[in-house]
Amino acid sequence: MVSPPAAIKTATRIVRRNDAGATKQVSADICVVGAGIAGVSAALEAARLGRTVALVDGQLALGGQAVNSVIGTFCGLFSNGHSGYQLTHGIADGILSDLGAQGALHYRHGGPSNTIVVMYDEVALARWIEEAVRAADITVILGAVLRGVARDGRRIREIELATRYGDVRLAATGFVDASGDAALAWNAGLACREPADGPIYGTQMVVIEGIDEAEQPTREDCAARLKQKAKDYGLTRESGFAFVFPGKGTALVNMTHVETPLDAVEATKKALEGKDQADRAVAFLKAEYPKAFGNARIRTYGALGIRQTRWIVGRQQLTVEDVRAGTHFPDAVARTGWPIELHDTPQGHVWEPFGDDHLHYVPIGSLTPADCDNLVAAGRCIDGDVAALSSVRVMGPCIAMGAAAAHALDLAGAGSVHQIDAAALAARVKDNVERRG
Ligand SMILES: Cc1cc2nc3c(=O)[nH]c(=O)nc-3n(C[C@H](O)[C@H](O)[C@H](O)COP(=O)(O)OP(=O)(O)OC[C@H]3O[C@@H](n4cnc5c(N)ncnc54)[C@H](O)[C@@H]3O)c2cc1C
Repeated sequence: MVSPPAAIKTATRIVRRNDAGATKQVSADICVVGAGIAGVSAALEAARLGRTVALVDGQLALGGQAVNSVIGTFCGLFSNGHSGYQLTHGIADGILSDLGAQGALHYRHGGPSNTIVVMYDEVALARWIEEAVRAADITVILGAVLRGVARDGRRIREIELATRYGDVRLAATGFVDASGDAALAWNAGLACREPADGPIYGTQMVVIEGIDEAEQPTREDCAARLKQKAKDYGLTRESGFAFVFPGKGTALVNMTHVETPLDAVEATKKALEGKDQADRAVAFLKAEYPKAFGNARIRTYGALGIRQTRWIVGRQQLTVEDVRAGTHFPDAVARTGWPIELHDTPQGHVWEPFGDDHLHYVPIGSLTPADCDNLVAAGRCIDGDVAALSSVRVMGPCIAMGAAAAHALDLAGAGSVHQIDAAALAARVKDNVERRG
């Protein structure tokens, strides 16, 4: 016997777009544009200070390049030499302790950077960020592309975002530009910088699996072979390496150079070229090192990794002389010992490492555009010359800059970030500037 069908829902209603109510209004004390490691650090620090926070990103996932471009290693987080100590704290402490407890980290000592580099599992980092942001009750708007900024003189009043669900207007007292491309400063009509002598190249990273760790080549051998044979495989870049994550049977391949233009059509074209270059890099590894990589398969293609495109003009520009001299600015908010790492030719990059005692510093003036009272930049779009920026855009100092941006805006309140109490800011960021270990 056939039983009667269960009651199911069938009712529909007719809806039409109502233009009058189409734009959603959101407000917060502090709005952070860009949910990369710098923006996440800024948002979590601002929430910890008791501020209401909105965090927006054009991508559909949190974590920016740290997660979505599978960067895979925290650099610039420890001082140089064999007994290096941790230079940046704040969210770095939570990430290191929580991911460490999950076995999702690997500390690599020494190597060409003369420092401790921390490899991380990008899935574990993504979940750490998602849960931290959720616990802090931050308003997150993903898939939200900044397309307009409204100013009242020297203050940004609100930003306009385009999302698949309609437009959003987000008003805030203070704003953090952690977009990497200075999207907020640019859309606010503020002066920005771009490299004057040709592009800085990005990289299509991939994770490969199915490798034999015991057979991995030395870095030196791989570098020499790439230099000699890159052209045979159609590879533009003649340097790079596959970083093995011990115990996982995977490696991160960083062997491509691709331009990252700020143009919708060209950027997409280059992203596709990047994947082709990554395939060629893996073909190189498989053919040249069959014992280690003969069975390798690409598990993940990250989003095209972007190093340096457009950045703010700050009150103070960090220079390569400051970096080499280790100038300890009185208003420093971040520090690192990471080399100058300038990817300024298709074939290779400038690599200028520093000694054990070397540290260089980022002043708050490099985060603050002079013509705006409530905007602070953080991460890879702060003000430096091309070479200086290449040495401070790694994730250790990006975390410190994000925290400093939150503190500067918190201290400014409804006033100006250019008139905050310098001693109060120094006291708040001292762990990232003075602490040893
Ligand atoms: C290939 C490569 C390898 C690297 N290797 C390392 C490494 O091993 N270790 C290390 O520490 N560092 C490394 N770096 C540097 C480091 O990864 C980045 O500089 C750092 O992650 C930058 O963080 P960020 O938060 O400033 O920017 P991002 O991570 O770039 O985040 C910016 C966010 O802003 C969003 N955004 C941009 N424009 C808009 C807009 N208009 N509207 C809305 N959202 C927008 C983007 O979607 C993005 O999510 C590498 C970089 C590259 C490219």
